Amino acid sequence: MIQKENKKDSYFVLTGNPFVDAGIYAIEAYYEEDYRTLTPEKLKSKIEELVDLYLTEGWKKNMYSIFTGNSKYSNPSVKDKKTAAAKYLNDLLGEFSLPESSGTCIACGRRDALPIRKRDEIPLTGSGKLVNFFAGASEGERYCPVCTFAVQFMPLCLYSVGGRFLLFHSASDKIMRYWAGEGVKNIRWQKQTGNYTGCMQEGYKNGENALFHIVEKMIREREDIFPEENPSITAYVFSNYTQNPPPMQMIHLPNNVFRFLVYIQRLDSSAWAKIVRKGYKVLKKEEDYKWRSNSVYKNLLEGRSIIGYFIEKDRNVTGNWEILSYYLKEVRRMDKERIEVLKRVGDKIADYIEKTDNTKRLFAIETAKSYEGLRNVFLKIAKDMIANGMGGPLFTIDEFVNDLFPEGALNWPETRDILLFRLYEKLAPYLQKKREVIEEIKENEEA
Ligand SMILES: [Zn+2]
Repeated sequence: MIQKENKKDSYFVLTGNPFVDAGIYAIEAYYEEDYRTLTPEKLKSKIEELVDLYLTEGWKKNMYSIFTGNSKYSNPSVKDKKTAAAKYLNDLLGEFSLPESSGTCIACGRRDALPIRKRDEIPLTGSGKLVNFFAGASEGERYCPVCTFAVQFMPLCLYSVGGRFLLFHSASDKIMRYWAGEGVKNIRWQKQTGNYTGCMQEGYKNGENALFHIVEKMIREREDIFPEENPSITAYVFSNYTQNPPPMQMIHLPNNVFRFLVYIQRLDSSAWAKIVRKGYKVLKKEEDYKWRSNSVYKNLLEGRSIIGYFIEKDRNVTGNWEILSYYLKEVRRMDKERIEVLKRVGDKIADYIEKTDNTKRLFAIETAKSYEGLRNVFLKIAKDMIANGMGGPLFTIDEFVNDLFPEGALNWPETRDILLFRLYEKLAPYLQKKREVIEEIKENEEA
């Protein structure tokens, strides 16, 4: 890990403020030099180039939405925007100072902040009805010249989501550097082709889908990003365009979900694609996935289970036990012992069904409507097992209370789904043979 501690002579310090930090990494990628060694003199060298970029048609349109129509890059009453914007940035450079031990800037807290910055310099700040979202900031517009300067570069790594912008923020240097690199790649491409289309965009209109797309692509492209990176990723989806912009959407990707994404994408990316596809329900057109809400993504973000998505309607499974148990351990935070017991009980039931050829019990598990109903099926199976001399209890009382249903009647469908997953996996060859018979039983039961 790269040292986060800034050298004594570094102007830029990471602040935890997503706008400023994104700007600092964008500066580093844009100037192709470690942000900790960049000085005002060096920073002068690319000011005009940046202004030229921001004044191209595609970018100017974005500048309205990012810095309002009053900014140096967009204000219609300013005739020579190039000179005005370059002067603004150079003036900020003229005010650069090294960080102190304290200061009134709400971002770095290491330099004093005067004058007050408004929405045309820092998005979403300002007075009136706008609620500032940075914790502890009562006024929310005290940014020092260095932090303000950094924010001017933040658009380079913004990602367009419909009419809004996704600001990607992570505590991991590695990930922030990857992301800033993507932003600069986008600019280089635009310069090469002469087609200035503004911020990064791939047609996404749904912030959550865009965030997963960004993270999944990064995981595929960068093998040096490990599950243990624990990057704490947050996307801020905002617009600064109208007088009263819509409230900013904050999407936090939990570290355990990130670990799971790395794991499943590297182990079985086609299984993951299949699970995600189910989260869309219906896609009428190919491109619909860019704006439609996805229940798999939503459940992962909101801490709800996605176990059901591992199970297919035709008694097949997506992925395997290894993947599901990783999900249970990492994302559902189940302890190892509980997962082992669930597997063992699943195996015993599978063995019982195959040996006694009693597919009726499988159907009874699938259609159980309550905790009591499911418990009854287990009792029947346990009795059958004894009657058939199959030895050993299906589970001990301890296992039943602690591992099968630790929350009692609560969350019983989750236990059922995990067992079904294991049953389908273990019984795959058997069920293939029995398919017709099972369908018949089902019809009779339903009749
Ligand atoms: Zn500052």
